[in-house]
Amino acid sequence: MTVHRTGVLIVGTGFSGLGMAIELRKRGREDFLVLEKADEVGGTWRENTYPGCACDVPSHLYSLSGEPNPYWSKMWSGQPEIFAYLRSLSDKYDVRRSVRFGSTCSGGYWDERQARWHVSTTEGDEYIAQFLVSGVGALHIPNIPTLPGIENFTGKAFHSARWDHEVDLTGKRVAVIGTGASAVQFVPEIAGRVAQLQLYQRTPAWVLPRRNFSVPPVVQRVFARVPLLRRAFRNSVYWSAEALAIGLNGHSSLLRPVEFAGRRFIRREISDPTLREKLTPSYRIGCKRILGSNTYYKALNSTRAEVITGGIAEVRERSIVDRDGTEREVDVIVYATGFHVTDGFDGMNVAGVGGRKLVQHWQKNGIATHLGITAAGYPNAFFLLGPNTGLGHNSVVFMIEQQIKYVLRAVQLVEQSDADAIAVREQVQDRFDTEIQRKLRNGVWSTGGCTSWYLDSTGVNRTVWPGFTWQYWLRTRTIDPAEYELLQAKENVNV
Ligand code: NAP
Repeated sequence: MTVHRTGVLIVGTGFSGLGMAIELRKRGREDFLVLEKADEVGGTWRENTYPGCACDVPSHLYSLSGEPNPYWSKMWSGQPEIFAYLRSLSDKYDVRRSVRFGSTCSGGYWDERQARWHVSTTEGDEYIAQFLVSGVGALHIPNIPTLPGIENFTGKAFHSARWDHEVDLTGKRVAVIGTGASAVQFVPEIAGRVAQLQLYQRTPAWVLPRRNFSVPPVVQRVFARVPLLRRAFRNSVYWSAEALAIGLNGHSSLLRPVEFAGRRFIRREISDPTLREKLTPSYRIGCKRILGSNTYYKALNSTRAEVITGGIAEVRERSIVDRDGTEREVDVIVYATGFHVTDGFDGMNVAGVGGRKLVQHWQKNGIATHLGITAAGYPNAFFLLGPNTGLGHNSVVFMIEQQIKYVLRAVQLVEQSDADAIAVREQVQDRFDTEIQRKLRNGVWSTGGCTSWYLDSTGVNRTVWPGFTWQYWLRTRTIDPAEYELLQAKENVNV
């Protein structure tokens, strides 16, 4: 086992981890390392390569505010461009030299005596760090449904986040299971070349019209030369997205016109009344992520496409049998079934004060943090895009940026005192958790009549931030020392 010592240990190189590393480097710090399980930076935007993969948040907003890219080629850019953006940032700040690629964080513990985190990797290394920053995100462990007989299937099968590009879908009978944000993007891309598209839908998504458009090169050049214009454009996108938060948070009747637009879109695009009925959601819009596509319904109109809603009874060697008893032959199964969310932090299952394991503690008591960033009993540990800081209406990159700045303030607080660690007070965390859970009770995710991965197994929303993102900015723009305890190491440490 090799032991490495560092000041700040970051896990992950997606928007969160990379953003954190960049901010440290911008401040001239060299005392940090980043663990990355893969061999390249990029997180979600490295892993998801399915056809049509793109971000459903406009690119000028879905990027770091301090690292604008005036040259986004589309309003909603595709995965290759977003991945290239992250790689270019990594080059610009020479982040890779601080990244330990092929290093999978498997857990760790807080050493109270020395006030240091000890983090281990599945590859057998140990990292000792004063500060630990999680940039692992919640959506990275593919959820493969446990369907009866699934192990008997002899055709090719893969998850949307592990797209098998070796498999040529041309002329194949393809079953797609799931109709969420990923399926809506890749179904139109494959529908034209497969022999049959069998789309297994459990719950229809609300899909709104969206015509993605290219940003003309002349506009890109103007954005590059006149940053004020680019910023004004970004701001206009930001504020129009913020408006949706009113409807999502307690005023869901305001969402009725949006639902009306969704229904009108289905009527316009789908002529078959049976298919129309299948595709029309019966829950309030916003309860699940609102999707946008001008090509999804068109793809389902094809005679080669079939939307199957009765559920799957059994998977056989080369077929799927639905609950009505109909058996359909299948060459390839694509799981568009989302991610394990509650176990997303398993790799970060660190033991805090008194050896208390984070994941088990959260499973038993519910996930509670302060501002989605710090957790009582886990000094000097910070979660980027932690619990209840996800969004249904705006860019999570905005949230990540506020969190990175907050972490830097916390680190500064420790370093400017003669303390070694900072720990959020339990009552502060409880107060925050009670407040957001009270607000979330009126949120459309709980009142809208649907189930979603936003809610945990007890129906509590542990995923979404209840309100405007500027309110989160306001809450995190300073760190209140009274909310934290400063701790001393019990033993002298000189690292
Ligand atoms: P998802 O939105 O969670 O959708 C999963 C789909 O699989 C749902 O239709 C779900 O049905 C279905 N499903 C799950 N388990 C099933 C089972 N056992 N049997 C049948 N159907 C099953 O997953 P996703 O599309 O991968 O997206 C996940 C998240 O990633 C999104 O919500 C979004 O936050 C993010 N994402 C973002 C973008 C972007 O452009 N920014 C793009 C893709 C993904 P039910 O609805 O009935 O549960």
